Amino acid sequence: MFDLTSCVAVVTGGNGGIGLGMARGLARAGAHVVVAARNMDKTDAAIRELSALGPPALAIRTDVTVEDSVVGLVQEVDRRFGRVDILVNNAGINIRAPAQDLSFAQWNEVLSTNLSSAFLCARAVYPLMKRTGAGKVINVGSMLSIFGASFAPAYGASKGGIVQLTKSLAVAWAADRIQVNAVLPGWIDTELTTAARAQVAGLNERVLARTPAGRWGMPSEFEGIAVFLASSASDFITGAAIPVDGGYSTMA
Ligand code: NDP
Repeated sequence: MFDLTSCVAVVTGGNGGIGLGMARGLARAGAHVVVAARNMDKTDAAIRELSALGPPALAIRTDVTVEDSVVGLVQEVDRRFGRVDILVNNAGINIRAPAQDLSFAQWNEVLSTNLSSAFLCARAVYPLMKRTGAGKVINVGSMLSIFGASFAPAYGASKGGIVQLTKSLAVAWAADRIQVNAVLPGWIDTELTTAARAQVAGLNERVLARTPAGRWGMPSEFEGIAVFLASSASDFITGAAIPVDGGYSTMA
């Protein structure tokens, strides 16, 4: 049920943090993982690790904010493997500032990296998934898909949008046997949040107090949900937004 042998999975931002956590799970379950990100030093290290866990992984330098780059990524995967079974839209950034201090360029950078990228990647893989007759799209949201934060207006808008994009694609593509779901991480210990901890005073203490599990999550805790949502175990689940948050979103 959880076997991904001979599947091909494209993971944007799969060279670190949550994306690499998900990629490890997919590789261990038997998938060829294609890591699509910009920093090739980080990507090459990830490829070595993933290829030791499962079938050979592939690096394709990609900037998900550039339409031609995304189109080129999917063409190259099609040329190398002839299929895409799984797409993980994980690449993301945050620029922390209240709305009154955020420039339009910063707003656009966050929206295009976190939200428009998911549209571009999903649109690009759709013909390949339709051709094989099935597919899985996993979008990465956030607690800010649900809650508001004074310091993250663009990030919150992008992550709220990810959930609604997930639902629209799920409804549109269900008849094609393509399931589209979102994962909503709580506070996870990655490079992104190392920066946040340095920039936002008291953040670490607030996360520990506000998370029922009483700790930060780890990238390795995304292996299971990635395999579940990428495998036949989840074939009748589509349009869902699943928190992976140590209880953060359920505590009053
Ligand atoms: P990291 O900063 O560790 O990873 C972000 C990844 O996105 C990097 O691999 C980066 O690779 C890639 N990326 C950024 N911009 C681009 C781009 N233009 N083109 C291609 N790839 C890009 O952060 P996390 O692992 O923490 O975050 C992963 C996802 O999880 C994001 O969507 C984030 O919003 C979300 N998330 C994280 C939470 C947390 O607590 N950590 C909580 C909720 C959501 P490169 O720089 O090489 O391009």
